[in-house]
Amino acid sequence: MLNLVLFGPPGAGKGTQSEKLIAQYQLVHLSTGDLLRSEIREGTELGLRAKMLMDQGILVPDEVVIGMIENKLKENQSAAGFIFDGFPRTVPQAAALDHLLAQHNTQITVMVALVVDEEELTKRLLIRGQSSGRSDDQNEALIRRRVQEYNEKTAPVANYYESQGKFKAIDGIGQIEEIFQAICEKIETATANVRS
Ligand code: AMP
Repeated sequence: MLNLVLFGPPGAGKGTQSEKLIAQYQLVHLSTGDLLRSEIREGTELGLRAKMLMDQGILVPDEVVIGMIENKLKENQSAAGFIFDGFPRTVPQAAALDHLLAQHNTQITVMVALVVDEEELTKRLLIRGQSSGRSDDQNEALIRRRVQEYNEKTAPVANYYESQGKFKAIDGIGQIEEIFQAICEKIETATANVRS
């Protein structure tokens, strides 16, 4: 199985690259942001509670997203692998993911981090907000809050994977295709290491 964590701050290009990676490697895409937005659209209680936090650029509680991922892993037992997008976002989420994957006799293959500076992120998200309809992309103060949340709570997740020898960083600024090729190289190296 190929289990990839695609890592990076909001606006780093995780969604764009996920689409290309899914097509290349036939992976099941698990984006906790997408799953939460679909709960909001369906008007569930979980969605309503999550929306209050998402509208402030704050992370939702770990147990909420871990529960959603747990359900999706159960629903997709025959998958060739998973791409985790926007998850894990805290160290406890990363530890829970390791635990869940171990229950399915598998593990994270590699974590690829897209590195993009804050000014570029803000610019990209404001542009995305003009067409995505996402209210959290339309307000600069909210974007900065999300990046701050990332720096405080999510950036330490990189160390978690670094200590397992699974962290690979690549430059997230450049042509989409070039970035995609750089991610594929990291995946190929990681899977070759697992095989050898
Ligand atoms: P995203 O679409 O990944 O940018 O996520 C949008 C919002 O959903 C975030 O700002 C958080 O409020 C919430 N969210 C998404 N994924 C997670 C996660 N793994 N942990 C906590 N909150 C999350």
